[in-house]
Amino acid sequence: MDRFLGSKKLHNTIVIEGDELNHLYAKRVKVGQKIEVFLEGRLYLCILEKLAKSYAYCLIEKELDVYIPLPIITLYQCVPIELKNMDLIVEKISEVGAFKLVPVVSSRSFQNIQVIKKRIERWKRIALASFKQCKRPKPLEIGEPVYLKDINADAELNLFLDSFEKGIGIKDLKLDGVKTINLIVGPEGGLSVKESEFLKGLGFFSVRLYPYVLRSETASILGVGLLMNFSIQHSSTYRD
Ligand code: SAM
Repeated sequence: MDRFLGSKKLHNTIVIEGDELNHLYAKRVKVGQKIEVFLEGRLYLCILEKLAKSYAYCLIEKELDVYIPLPIITLYQCVPIELKNMDLIVEKISEVGAFKLVPVVSSRSFQNIQVIKKRIERWKRIALASFKQCKRPKPLEIGEPVYLKDINADAELNLFLDSFEKGIGIKDLKLDGVKTINLIVGPEGGLSVKESEFLKGLGFFSVRLYPYVLRSETASILGVGLLMNFSIQHSSTYRD
């Protein structure tokens, strides 16, 4: 079923306007057709009631239950020097099932935190477009940027990807029943030895992807995708 973003709610009707209305026209949705509409963090099953030049009215049939597949993965991504590579990371980790992305400033990452902050709205828009395409239950959350030194090992399983060590692989991890995972991925130049020792001191385990050294963005997408697929608990999902 096609999914659209609403712009406001009037009683039991959601209004679609602007670019989303163009999208509705492009998809050739007809009056009377059922569609999903997302507004203010909620997903609704609606019927397209009226289609005009500058707006569409969608009658709410019901609010849809939202089940988030476990584990809840937060990707701490050291921001690539090639800042535009974050666009790809946002789109793809949204598709493979990360719950949240936190941009990280590390010694070899992109450094300017103000510039990173200015990109957050763009990354949220990419996350919303991906949410519509891949039909995930909620858009990927984008957190405020943090410095690597301020990250906490506050998930049930705390991991970082390290291409230097011949460490354990993802299939060797005990993932049964794990509900929350933090995953840190280094920038193009990797994490420094000091940073990797610091993370181990905090309680993060280093994990290796085999067989080769990957680009940062490939490592993030594969890392989240493998963790999700090896540990997804199909029968027990978490309702937000
Ligand atoms: N210059 C680094 C080196 O020679 O190892 C490469 C860094 S890699 C391009 C960027 C980041 O992706 C790494 O810090 C790590 O987090 C992740 N990464 C890439 N390949 C990996 C692998 N095979 N195993 C684990 N992590 C990997």
